Amino acid sequence: MPEMSANIVVVEDEQQIRRFVKTVLEKAGFAVFEAATGQQGLVEIGTRQPDVVIVDLGLPDLDGTELIRQVRGWSAVPIIILSARSQESEKVCGLDAGADDYLTKPFGAPELLARIRAHLRRRAFTQDDGSSSCEFGDIRVDLAKRSVSRAGQQIHLTQTEYRLLAMLVRNAGRVVTQRQLLLEVWGPAFVESGHYLRVYMGHLRQKLERDPAQPRYLLTETGVGYRLLTA
Ligand code: CA
Repeated sequence: MPEMSANIVVVEDEQQIRRFVKTVLEKAGFAVFEAATGQQGLVEIGTRQPDVVIVDLGLPDLDGTELIRQVRGWSAVPIIILSARSQESEKVCGLDAGADDYLTKPFGAPELLARIRAHLRRRAFTQDDGSSSCEFGDIRVDLAKRSVSRAGQQIHLTQTEYRLLAMLVRNAGRVVTQRQLLLEVWGPAFVESGHYLRVYMGHLRQKLERDPAQPRYLLTETGVGYRLLTA
């Protein structure tokens, strides 16, 4: 897979899972660097200049969320969290701390590879054009011109609808948590007002999705937040 060769750091203390991830990624042509502890992970991430980082949330020495927070202090590398089903709230904390995505254990090889490729594509895309515009289906969003159109026809959005969409466009492909959206669009007093989000996401789907009941682009990540799918 030479068109997408990349360095990937895997921080995971369970040897079985670490080996599984390494085997899958190496078979796909990626270079893999392993770390079994959080401290070792920080060293690998600092020295290997990875294109993607995969982090288990339950590490022996350092909370995975704390590791993410530290890495975000000096790197914008895409970070994918590995979490157990029992770690629902920690998963959201990890995303709030700056992770881009998550996989819930147990996960399969195709799912893992699809996520990694999506984040590599997104990274290439944002490096190219500063991601001031994006397209999904027949919708085009241009953040520089503050315009949203379908096949050249302008679509009217309210201020709030536009701000919500713009936040998702700037993070296209990533999971954005409810807290991040509420904070950005409504402000710090509204971080618990999840119903606002549901209402306005409904409006956006009515205006932008062909079938608002079966959204193809403005996706719900149950219990976590939302994701705009563009590719
Ligand atoms: Ca673990």
